[in-house]
Amino acid sequence: MKDDPVLSIRNSAIASCIGGVSVACILGSVKYLPTGLLFLKKTVFSIWLLLQSTYSVPLWLFLILITCTSVLFYSAIIKTRSFAFEPRIKSYISDEIYDVNWRWKWRGNEIVNLWCYCPKCDGTLIYDDNNCDHAFCDRQTKFICENCDRETISTIKGGNKRYTLNMIKREIRRKIRTQIKEHKF
Ligand SMILES: [Zn+2]
Repeated sequence: MKDDPVLSIRNSAIASCIGGVSVACILGSVKYLPTGLLFLKKTVFSIWLLLQSTYSVPLWLFLILITCTSVLFYSAIIKTRSFAFEPRIKSYISDEIYDVNWRWKWRGNEIVNLWCYCPKCDGTLIYDDNNCDHAFCDRQTKFICENCDRETISTIKGGNKRYTLNMIKREIRRKIRTQIKEHKF
């Protein structure tokens, strides 16, 4: 492809202009460089003098300032730690609890779409909490796999399906807290 001479001249002109302006800017800045350095030196010196000054502050005010600073510092550290742990917590989306595989998603700090799967065939389990309707029976929820001859894979005592799901959520959060304490997250 042949170069267009008009375009070449235009590009050269633009390049010359940019180069000229750049050189002018650098030369102009050099002129103000000693003034800038002097200003920087004065500022640093002023800050140093300010830091060396002594002030008479009542002890109660000093203690309040120290306490506030400590609290702010501590909360900043906690916040930084929780931000650092968050990605790892958000990647914790499955676990074996009460002999079945539980999977879930995170929506913010909430556990959503929590459900259990068969540890043998990975089939979605169905539940049976009918006995919770009877007053004199032990309240429990059975999790059954249709793929494994309707075998009861897990029986969780305490309440119906809703109770069980909340219990599993509490267990997930307990595990997270424990893992954080053991620095595994
Ligand atoms: Zn199964």
